[in-house]
Amino acid sequence: MWQQKQFDCIVVGGGPAGTTFAQVASRGGLSVLVLEKDRDIGMPVRCGEAISDKGLRYFHDPDPRWIQSTIDRIKLTAPNETEVEFDLNDIGYILDRRIFDYDLAHMAAQEGAIVVTKAYVNGLIIDNDMVCGVKGNYLNSPFEVRAKFVIGADGVESRVGRWGGLRTQVKLKDMESGIQKTISGIEVQSNKFEFYLSRKWAPGGYLWVFPKGNNSANVGLGISGYYAKEGKSAQKFLDEFLQWKYPECSVLTTVAGGVPVDKTLKCMVADGLMLVGDAAHTVNPMTGGGISSGMMSGMAAAETAIELSHNKKEPTRANLNSYEKKWTKLRGKKHEKYYRIKEAIFKFDDDDLNRIADGIAAVKEEDRSLLKLFSIAVAKKPSLLIDVVRLFTGL
Ligand SMILES: Cc1cc2nc3c(=O)[nH]c(=O)nc-3n(C[C@H](O)[C@H](O)[C@H](O)COP(=O)(O)OP(=O)(O)OC[C@H]3O[C@@H](n4cnc5c(N)ncnc54)[C@H](O)[C@@H]3O)c2cc1C
Repeated sequence: MWQQKQFDCIVVGGGPAGTTFAQVASRGGLSVLVLEKDRDIGMPVRCGEAISDKGLRYFHDPDPRWIQSTIDRIKLTAPNETEVEFDLNDIGYILDRRIFDYDLAHMAAQEGAIVVTKAYVNGLIIDNDMVCGVKGNYLNSPFEVRAKFVIGADGVESRVGRWGGLRTQVKLKDMESGIQKTISGIEVQSNKFEFYLSRKWAPGGYLWVFPKGNNSANVGLGISGYYAKEGKSAQKFLDEFLQWKYPECSVLTTVAGGVPVDKTLKCMVADGLMLVGDAAHTVNPMTGGGISSGMMSGMAAAETAIELSHNKKEPTRANLNSYEKKWTKLRGKKHEKYYRIKEAIFKFDDDDLNRIADGIAAVKEEDRSLLKLFSIAVAKKPSLLIDVVRLFTGL
């Protein structure tokens, strides 16, 4: 039984970041235990399920069973309801995360990891300031398991980091309150991402319609915590939109959750502990997408664990620093840039958005692109130039 064993690594959380860690670390020869509190890996799905082809292909060839829609076009709707459409340079997908997450856990198990569901972790074992295991409950029985490395992959509500003494708080303005309904009995184009940008639909964020075939979609929104405190809930914003756009729809699921659109944690490691995925704030702050970046952090942390184990080095904070370096090399610089773009966009009011949409609507469709959109945004709001300069210089 896993409760009686000692492992090289214990992963808290069976989302994409945790199971990617488990797959890579197991393949590298480490013994890995993944503890997931929920009954099923991949459920409930708290996600719009969008991923780029590039982001997915970095890890796996797309399996047709994971893909609900293939996206090659984008439609943006401005506050004055001007619609702007163009083709995407890179295709994207709407995944079925119930199958995708499940398969990631399956792949980790195939490499030798032990995955346990209904295993709730409620504390860390810390000896001489070094994290060396976890405590929890499994089927109403308490357990304690020890390992050289503990991985906090416990998502946006992560407590593992705090238990390990890391500063994981998110500023209100950098925490989006997300809500999503999967609706059916509608008509959508299965190849198109739709975004609605307006303070009236999603202040400080955006509203998305991600098709799951032609008759169903994930419709959701994220609003900045800065606006959430004004009292109108994300749920109310979404209900008003659905009443306006799809009054006859059936609602098949409703999920809510926070999205940390923040800089990555300054410190992602402590003695014996690494944080990955949402727990380390690896979500792309501009888009709110965290599947592929979470997997990337899981991979980087696993490579660090393999290197330290093979070189017989202790998992001290100083040695684990190589994980932070790997992350910075893979995504860190880009992440900072996305954060600054988000900060610049946050300053747009509805009039700015209308002017930008009208500007791009006047451009011939074949000449439209995200870059063109950005240059029009700068032309329509020259003060954005300062932000753009900051963006590229990091000043
Ligand atoms: C409404 C919404 C829409 C989104 N849309 C998109 C999108 O379209 N595209 C995209 O890329 N990203 C999207 N995201 C973000 C994306 O869902 C996350 O970034 C991604 O799931 C992060 O993966 P993770 O493995 O870090 O965490 P998670 O997927 O959250 O997994 C964490 C796991 O840890 C488990 N856990 C937590 N605490 C414990 C504990 N104490 N003991 C044991 N297990 C525990 C949880 O049950 C969970 O299974 C969205 C998020 C929200 C809220």
